[in-house]
Amino acid sequence: MSDAGSNLTRRKFMIVGSVAAAAPFVMKMAGLVPEAKAADKQYTYTIGPGCLGCHYCFNECPGGAIHWGNSAYVIEHKKCLHCGTCYNVCNAGVVTRK
Ligand code: SF4
Ligand code: SF4
Repeated sequence: MSDAGSNLTRRKFMIVGSVAAAAPFVMKMAGLVPEAKAADKQYTYTIGPGCLGCHYCFNECPGGAIHWGNSAYVIEHKKCLHCGTCYNVCNAGVVTRK
């Protein structure tokens, strides 16, 4: 292959590679990836009655938004990062989201 042909092939490869690398970000920004839509939804998480005080949510909360109330853990909504970790780790199923 000539130098010109080789350069053209290299340029095509770089363009295709760049488009392939950018595609997931573009799709995510455009809301075309289902998981992205779900992750973007900002649920409000609340600890309802029946908290066992097992500390799981408290230990796992990345925002430091969960603290001990009078007789159960409570979520301080101003600090909540909406990550859903408390909802997922609660064995008692008392963390609700809406
Ligand atoms: S959703 Fe995440 S940041 Fe908010 S209280 Fe639960 S674990 Fe903490
Ligand atoms: S994980 Fe559930 S039961 Fe345990 S402290 Fe948190 S809200 Fe209460």
